[in-house]
Amino acid sequence: MRQSRTFIPTTREVPSSAEAISHKLLIKAGMVKQVSAGVYTYLPLATKVIQNIERVIREEHDKIGAVELLMPLLQSEDYWKESGRWYKMGDELMRLKDRKGAGYALSPTAEEIICQTVNNMLTSYKQLPMNLYQIQTKFRDEMRPRLGLLRGKEFIMKDGYSFHDSPESLRETYLDYYNAYSNIFDRFELKYRAVKADSGNIGGSYTHEFQALAEIGEDTIAYTEESDYAANIETAAVVEQNYTIPSGFEKKERELLETPDQQTIDDIAAYCGVEVNRAMKALALKADGEFYLVLMRGNDQLNDIKFMKATGTSEVEMATEQEIEEVMGSVVGYMGPFGIKNCKVIGDNAIKYMYNHSCGANKKGYHYINVNPGDYEVDAYYDLRMIEEGDIAEDLSGKIKFAKGIEVGQVFELGKGYSEAMNITYLDANGRANHFYMGCYGIGVSRVISAIIEQHNDEKGIIWPKEVAPFQVHLVCVDVKKQEQLELSEKLYAELTSAGYTVLYDDRAERAGVKFNDADLIGIPLQVVVGKKATEGIVEVKERKTLEKVDTSITEVLSKVGQFYK
Ligand code: ATP
Ligand code: MG
Repeated sequence: MRQSRTFIPTTREVPSSAEAISHKLLIKAGMVKQVSAGVYTYLPLATKVIQNIERVIREEHDKIGAVELLMPLLQSEDYWKESGRWYKMGDELMRLKDRKGAGYALSPTAEEIICQTVNNMLTSYKQLPMNLYQIQTKFRDEMRPRLGLLRGKEFIMKDGYSFHDSPESLRETYLDYYNAYSNIFDRFELKYRAVKADSGNIGGSYTHEFQALAEIGEDTIAYTEESDYAANIETAAVVEQNYTIPSGFEKKERELLETPDQQTIDDIAAYCGVEVNRAMKALALKADGEFYLVLMRGNDQLNDIKFMKATGTSEVEMATEQEIEEVMGSVVGYMGPFGIKNCKVIGDNAIKYMYNHSCGANKKGYHYINVNPGDYEVDAYYDLRMIEEGDIAEDLSGKIKFAKGIEVGQVFELGKGYSEAMNITYLDANGRANHFYMGCYGIGVSRVISAIIEQHNDEKGIIWPKEVAPFQVHLVCVDVKKQEQLELSEKLYAELTSAGYTVLYDDRAERAGVKFNDADLIGIPLQVVVGKKATEGIVEVKERKTLEKVDTSITEVLSKVGQFYK
């Protein structure tokens, strides 16, 4: 494509609201134009990138037998009421009415319509599993559309849905998708982790999020360099291998110690003469109407999700001062396991390994010191704390590190939630009607563009990975007024194009500096620069990533390009 004829409005003007590097570079490189908050026009370069992303997605979906279709964006409210999401999704769901007053949702995903699509059409167990996907615009009235294409109000998503007659068949397809997604993100050259995650509100249970590692990311993940273990910090398990009691420690006699006016756990620890991880803290919680005293090390944070899972509760709040005094017989700031009343006492696993430690004495102004395991009663121990950097990973392979991630995709076992709500069934071998097991699988196509740029850039601009680059070769004619440069450029353009490469040919009458800057900014992986040495039959081949330039005889250009893309 001739650069003089296409539309790549590169600019230095970036609005101050563009915080993310990817957002700035998308604007600078003339790839997007904002229409309104969270709504963008994809300019020609971005459109090429999208087409490449979609090509990779289609190739990998073909391999796992997923079949493409295209569903409408305009979705009658009737289906959304049937699934219940009309009421559950709140303001995030874009709603509108037609001239007759009939209500519609603008698709944020398409579980309802895929169910409506297969209803009475996918009827026999013999047709299962069925695996359908689309690449289509989505709408979500996000609270804060931001960071360019990372969080749009209108964006492009690949959404896939599978139908099964057994949980085993669902798991098989889930794993196919998991592998396909890994291949796809590998081909995008993204550094990512597949993170076992919580299901949020879609209603399934088994799910992985694919998180591209990037500082700008909104999710924090716990991972280790030593294996592919990764988990959402909200759910990452803390293993007991993290704790030990030093062998041969000397058990001391428990004592009551007056500890007036000690405010923080650090103060108390210092006053009691122990490190803070040997100062026990106790939290009084009220969950589903029952009281709990949760015992932890002083410096650990309670993970509410783990607490709720462990206790099988769903509504948790802190007990009030009055409840602590009147029900539990204790007092704020001095809670502990000795003599606590009317509650379950549960301990984080770590406290099994505390020794000669302090704890509240349930009496204003007093703590015990030299407390040891077995001195008090605990109803149950669980993993209750938030994971920390440096903890041993659940798979014991190494130490945990934290990283920020951008969720670029998610795979999800939905189970029968939607098929039951929408009442869609197939007939099994005995002619009985059963609800389908379903899975759903999403990739944020437009978000991926930004995620790639976040990971692939330098101070000059974008550095596209080969598979998604808008063009394979950027052919730059340095001075189009010089006949020999123009002729040679035209010749190379024809040759490269007919050899099957996609070429952006800078044939503009611009200054050399402008052209070089634009080329580095746009970030096509390989540049072929036709300049002064054209008269000698020599051009410069430059790799965008390394910025390495090599003088190359024109007879060798094709083989050089071929080598790069082999
Ligand atoms: P998030 O937690 O980031 O809001 P989500 O978990 O709600 O995302 P899903 O329903 O899992 O999103 O949608 C599938 C994929 O679509 C996500 O993994 C993400 O890549 C992409 N996506 C979701 N919301 C947006 C958005 N507002 N803008 C761009 N891409 C999005
Ligand atoms: Mg998600």
